[in-house]
Amino acid sequence: MTERMLKFVSLAQAMPDKRPAPQRRTDFDEIYRAFAQEKAAEQASRCSQCGVPFCQIHCPLQNNIPDWLRLAAEGRWEEAYAVSSSTNSMPEICGRICPQDRLCEGNCVIEKGFESVTIGAVEKHITDLAWARGWIKPITPPLERDQSVGIIGAGPAGLACAERLRRKGYQVAIYDRYDRIGGLLIYGIPNFKLEKDVVLRRGQRLIESGVKFHMNVDVGRDITLGALRQRHDAVLIATGTYQARELKAPGVGLGNIVPALPYLIRANRTDLGDKLPATDSSRFNAKDKRVVVIGGGDTAMDCVRTATRQGASSVTCLYRRDRQNMPGSAREVMNAEEEGVVFNWLSAPEAFLGRRVVSAVRASKMRLGPADATGRRSPEPIPDQSHSLEADLVIQALGFEAEDLVSAFDAPDLLTTSWGTVKTSGPSLETSLDGVFAAGDIVRGASLVVWAVRDGQDAAAAIDRYLKDKRTPKPHSADDQSLALETVS
Ligand code: FAD
Ligand code: SF4
Ligand code: SF4
Repeated sequence: MTERMLKFVSLAQAMPDKRPAPQRRTDFDEIYRAFAQEKAAEQASRCSQCGVPFCQIHCPLQNNIPDWLRLAAEGRWEEAYAVSSSTNSMPEICGRICPQDRLCEGNCVIEKGFESVTIGAVEKHITDLAWARGWIKPITPPLERDQSVGIIGAGPAGLACAERLRRKGYQVAIYDRYDRIGGLLIYGIPNFKLEKDVVLRRGQRLIESGVKFHMNVDVGRDITLGALRQRHDAVLIATGTYQARELKAPGVGLGNIVPALPYLIRANRTDLGDKLPATDSSRFNAKDKRVVVIGGGDTAMDCVRTATRQGASSVTCLYRRDRQNMPGSAREVMNAEEEGVVFNWLSAPEAFLGRRVVSAVRASKMRLGPADATGRRSPEPIPDQSHSLEADLVIQALGFEAEDLVSAFDAPDLLTTSWGTVKTSGPSLETSLDGVFAAGDIVRGASLVVWAVRDGQDAAAAIDRYLKDKRTPKPHSADDQSLALETVS
């Protein structure tokens, strides 16, 4: 085995080739080319097969990374896929968009001096190959169970839960207010990070596995939570967080200051070929504009890179902390810089200037003060140090909070935290309502896809335990008719 592995001493780290920045600025295609098969195996062989693999400890799914790297290095791709998919319902998606520098790869022991194993790129390669070779098939459970589970939300948490429950033979129905399956995977995260057919084929596989999707259904408006509890033996809330945080500064109400998510949704829909109403088209399009994006997380990075692709004349990102203390992935900042984005670190907007629409942003210079209770240094303005940036479009990307589900679902007994996220009883992910579970961003607050997958899988295990304890399933047969909801097939 050692002959084939431990190659990190002689073989340099290599990512799949990245398309040149001038080319990728002109389209929304993924920026990395696929690994050639032998390259993926070669890179996997750099792993030193640690006895205590820190990569695995720091992967939220505790993926068995050393094992699938060894199988990949040996060319045993189908077995590598079997090991990889045993802990992860969507490895090719995590391989593309996890911030690996903060998770598995950032904790790889050969990181120091030799550059980590390219774990994410190999993970993506294994599952892309599995799709190409037809190893990923619809789920055929060993037995069909009568009990049914209703899932609110077709994002990664809901989909991961549905996949695991269907494998156990439960009848699964997913309700989502969007028209397409995938949640933020489809409408938040841009195509250049995650191509949409990668997401849609996951949804299609679930449809072919017998999961029923009721799209364009807003729970709370079109059907109540109470009705879903009547209809199903258990319910999962996986609704994500969509309440955008807003700036409070003079001039913030001027025209052409837009929130990040509607901007990204519109760009994603355009890329998906949807016909969109002409209203707002210029407000949400960066072409020939001087764009200022405010924020330092993944959403801000997606906005700056979308704006460059739309043909902005300049794109500047304002962030109140420095490069080392930003929440977004370092790899994404590097990609953005290559594509021509300018970062103004330690800068926070003070006021927006203009008559009817914004024409400039006045920003104060910040410094990092003492650490707060969490150990993070808080930014504070340096008196009398501000500068102005000309702007035709300002995008606010300051993060998201949970919507008020107690009101939306008319569920006064659903306990929530002071941040509005749903309270669950630890690892069981059960809420204060009997048989109602919750997973993903709506429990954690805005987080990562890999954590949503982990929660969805854990919720499936908890729902399975809960349903095993229940004696009789609820009668469901006529309900699909009576609720008159459209099913996607
Ligand atoms: P979501 O993906 O938000 O899905 C929730 C679903 O519930 C949606 O489809 C929504 O329509 C539906 N829903 C909500 N309310 C209702 C209702 N009342 N009735 C019916 N349906 C409802 N994470 C990463 O790991 N890497 C990244 O690169 C990354 N980039 C990101 C970029 C952007 C722009 C954003 C916004 C987030 C990004 N994230 C990233 C975070 C990641 O997308 C989320 O953590 C993850 O999608 C959460 O999954 P979820 O299933 O909990 O919720
Ligand atoms: Fe790394 Fe994410 Fe894959 Fe885990 S799921 S191994 S953190 S890329
Ligand atoms: Fe291999 Fe790095 Fe994980 Fe060790 S920490 S098992 S070298 S990938």
